[in-house]
Amino acid sequence: MSTSTSHRRAQLRRHGFLILSPLPTANFPFLRYTSLLMDSITTLDNLWMGRPRSIAAGLLESDGHRTVVDPGPGSTLETLHRRLQARGIGVGDLDAILLTHIHLDHAGATGALVRKNPRLAVYVHRIGAPHVIDPSKLLASAQRLWPNELQRLFGETLPVPVENLRILDGGENLKLGSRQVEVVYTPGHASHHVSYFDKTAGVAFVGDTAGVRMEGNSFVMPATPPPDIDLGIWDTSFAAILERKPARLFLTHFGYSENPSEHISLFRERLHRWAALTAEILRTAASDAAATDSFMSATYAEISEHLPADEAAHYAFSAGLNLSFLGLARYLRKRATAAS
Ligand SMILES: [Zn+2]
Repeated sequence: MSTSTSHRRAQLRRHGFLILSPLPTANFPFLRYTSLLMDSITTLDNLWMGRPRSIAAGLLESDGHRTVVDPGPGSTLETLHRRLQARGIGVGDLDAILLTHIHLDHAGATGALVRKNPRLAVYVHRIGAPHVIDPSKLLASAQRLWPNELQRLFGETLPVPVENLRILDGGENLKLGSRQVEVVYTPGHASHHVSYFDKTAGVAFVGDTAGVRMEGNSFVMPATPPPDIDLGIWDTSFAAILERKPARLFLTHFGYSENPSEHISLFRERLHRWAALTAEILRTAASDAAATDSFMSATYAEISEHLPADEAAHYAFSAGLNLSFLGLARYLRKRATAAS
């Protein structure tokens, strides 16, 4: 029996499938059926800050190939291990990590995973890559946003060796097992944001491009942290997502959204409205602190109109309303400076 056959049998056994013969599957259609069963997408709830439904990683399995989309921050690494173990998977069994973008809540755990499994291929957009190789600037700007809480929120962020990186520009087609995944450049939330379209399953892994919507709710809202949100460019990303007609969106915060066109139109409307609100507040507020306060209370009131109190608090925490204000304010000021 060849090494690859014995490896595959071990994998099948781990998944509870009984394999009866090492002969090629073409002679045994039912064995092909077992390999179809192994094509799966699983939502891994990272339980960020002890909260269910805040940060989701996606586990893509196909023909023994295993990929994690956005593994989450360093602070939830142990939970990620447990989630994988529950499926009989160790970090050493992973083949690839797909990063939608490099913000710590999505990508922070990547370096630690590569340290445990040096054969991991890490896919990331060209603009984000330098900050994955050397996260010092990323950490310095995160430190300014969360001066006292960085470690508690995001844990340790280790560098990723350059040889593990697979640099993306958008437009690539990846083959992960038998799964076909198209990479699409979707800036807006971040200048280096990409989305991954699983053509086999019709699922679009959109990171934060389509905002925050906790699975099971219809309410969708923006997360617009500094430093480089861009509403104009964001519109082209909405078009790029809709053009591909995904059956479902997979959001990092959190899980599936079943009606992509309705989702994006609701999201876009609220995103632009919150930008207009920010512009109005910047015109009238007495100070930066007063501006942040009035943005946070206005948006919190809006969320609370749509959701029960505990769910409203969960949305606000997961998206970071204060950061959304800072990001929108920075974007508007930058645009005003550029226009003058
Ligand atoms: Zn995020």
